[in-house]
Amino acid sequence: MRFDILTIFPGAFDSYFNESMIKRAKARGLIKIVVHDIRKFSKDKHKKVDDTPYGGGPGMVMTPQPIYDAVRYVKKFNKGPVILLAAAGKVFSHNTARQLARKKGLILICGRYEGVDERVKKLCVDEEISIGEYVLTGGEIPAMVILDAVSRFVPAVLGKEKSLHEESFSESLKGKKEYPQYTRPPIFKNLKVPPVLQSGHHKNISEWRKKRVK
Ligand code: SAM
Repeated sequence: MRFDILTIFPGAFDSYFNESMIKRAKARGLIKIVVHDIRKFSKDKHKKVDDTPYGGGPGMVMTPQPIYDAVRYVKKFNKGPVILLAAAGKVFSHNTARQLARKKGLILICGRYEGVDERVKKLCVDEEISIGEYVLTGGEIPAMVILDAVSRFVPAVLGKEKSLHEESFSESLKGKKEYPQYTRPPIFKNLKVPPVLQSGHHKNISEWRKKRVK
């Protein structure tokens, strides 16, 4: 699956995408991530990407031209939907991640300042997604959140398919939250691992877990 990310801070992605699961998925060719600097598409002689809002008000608004041209360019390589990260968008969920993972790719636009000129949405955005009802300074963290959650549904990205099984919000837990997990040591700071989990009795373990999903 291919992800194209449009941002004015491409360096923000360097560390997260070069660690752990995402790094391995890239190396195995399961996902491809291309980060584009929106500023490079600006036709302004100073490579400006923002301007003051019509009607007045605080802050700056991202101008439509560089984003529009960046999306047109990226669409040559990525046939997936164009998603604008926006605090006021549809709130992202487990189900949205699973549905997006069925697409050939995703194009993610990260806003900054007071957001993007409304015409960008009309001209080249398929969906606006929020990662929660709060306002961040930019769409870069939301883009990482979406890429991470969607990648987990791309076949073979998680070593064992089973890791998707019995996870919070999954079908096997009927959309509920996971049961408590424990590992060694059996006693830590006087807190004991429930004996049933150490019993090796699969039916009892399964019943204990079923009772503890929330
Ligand atoms: N003026 C906007 C509003 O009131 O909704 C907030 C703009 S915010 C400071 C700048 C950018 O951060 C947004 O364009 C968006 O791309 C991103 N952003 C902020 N919060 C977000 C959230 N909860 N989910 C997704 N993107 C978010």
